[in-house]
Amino acid sequence: MSASRRITIFDTTLRDGEQSPGASMNIKEKIEVAQALVKLGVDVIEAGFPIASPGDFEAVREIARSAEGSVICGLARCNEQDIDRAWEALQEARHARIHVFLATSAIHREFKLRMDKKETIARAVAGVERAAGYCRDVEFSPEDAARTEVDFLCEVVEAAIAAGATTVNIPDTVGYATPAHMASVIRTLRARVPNIDRAVISIHCHDDLGLAVANSLAAVEAGAGQIECTINGIGERAGNCSLEEVVMAMRVRHDVYHVDSGIHSERLVPTSRLVASVTGIQVQRNKAIVDRNAFAHEAGIHQDGFLKERTTYEIMRPEDVGFAKTDLVMGKHSGRAALADRVRTLGYQLNTEQLQTVFDRLKELADKKKEIYDSDLAVLIEQQIRDVPKLWEFLGYEINAASNQKPRVTVRVRRGDEALSHPVSQGDGPIDAMFLALEQVTGTSVVVKDFQVHSVSMGKDAQGEVTVEVEYQGQLYRGRGVSTDTVEASGIAFLDALNRVGTLANLPKPPLAPSATV
Ligand SMILES: [Zn+2]
Repeated sequence: MSASRRITIFDTTLRDGEQSPGASMNIKEKIEVAQALVKLGVDVIEAGFPIASPGDFEAVREIARSAEGSVICGLARCNEQDIDRAWEALQEARHARIHVFLATSAIHREFKLRMDKKETIARAVAGVERAAGYCRDVEFSPEDAARTEVDFLCEVVEAAIAAGATTVNIPDTVGYATPAHMASVIRTLRARVPNIDRAVISIHCHDDLGLAVANSLAAVEAGAGQIECTINGIGERAGNCSLEEVVMAMRVRHDVYHVDSGIHSERLVPTSRLVASVTGIQVQRNKAIVDRNAFAHEAGIHQDGFLKERTTYEIMRPEDVGFAKTDLVMGKHSGRAALADRVRTLGYQLNTEQLQTVFDRLKELADKKKEIYDSDLAVLIEQQIRDVPKLWEFLGYEINAASNQKPRVTVRVRRGDEALSHPVSQGDGPIDAMFLALEQVTGTSVVVKDFQVHSVSMGKDAQGEVTVEVEYQGQLYRGRGVSTDTVEASGIAFLDALNRVGTLANLPKPPLAPSATV
């Protein structure tokens, strides 16, 4: 048996993940996610694309200043302004990495860059050299590598390493590769590029064919030393390789891959929940690793075997990925110390003031709901963490509704010190009427693109969690609301989305097309 190789986990939730439509995070949320990634044991955090917008620059700079324990990386195209701006954002990091990229496939060279092969190599070398002048840790990505002629890919990679690249990343930018193809690309690079042992080979897979995790694992088997991935697999279009899936596949099937990562797997579920909460992109009910259903053994025949010996149907334990052993936690009489203890066990850090707020909310909730589960508690905690500056606060509503009758709704909201109430008497039903009232009182008109309700935990008295996605001037914004009253949760979620429109819509728009990245 060969010894385990250590695979570098490069997380790009804050850069590639944030490019999912509607997933934009504010600086505070990005810092919160970065801190969670450090605790998770991620080796490299790609914090953003500094030249893309002033907000991206600020976020990368703040994370570089504050996150200790991971390498902080910023993305740049192969030109001087991008690279200089990336370094400006990164320079205060303990350990910084500049990630430069340039498209190399024939279709990109011809139609996007209008450069021949020689010019492409010269540009890549100039970019890597400029980045290497700032820091020793330089990653180079030939964008669309999976569709680049393999001979030319070898040439570019060799030139980039000679110019100072310490990691060469092979992106499947459009999610086109298959596992065998990916493995063959990595093997070819290792066989044909003479200086390949001077750099780590990295893999960056998109999930357009649902193969991102499989392609990444195939690349690792063929010798790749770094995987680029995101929490919950979020990212443009169908998303990126999912961190939790690829890490647990390597761990559970160590007998196949013989590799390790530095990931603390018991932090996977809390980190997944945090990212779902700040982006508003929930994971589906049967999501591998991080959804409860992944560990539910409800079918009778499975349950029988499971009760006799859990390993008959369970290849990993829920607690290995961060589900708490017992779920039923709090009741009306639970004290503050018990709460503080539970918060720590769930992996959150709250200051005294936040803890007090969660405690007060917990008591209110216990009046409405007998049994309070970890998932209920997590929602209360995340509301404290996910602190969107609130232009508007939801105070309450009154409703008169019946079938075949126009609903009448009055909403009560607060802006600063001013409390307002606004009635409407139109719409297709109570929720539609509530949304109309909130649009009118805030003076913000949006188009609702998605509306989902699901229960946070079990039972008829479970809290309802509502997520709303709205479009405003061509951009998507998400909002989330939780209450034991689903109508109220809908109002809170809709107002949360309008608050995001209010705080994010006025920011300068990124000058780059989102597709202009690896
Ligand atoms: Zn990507």
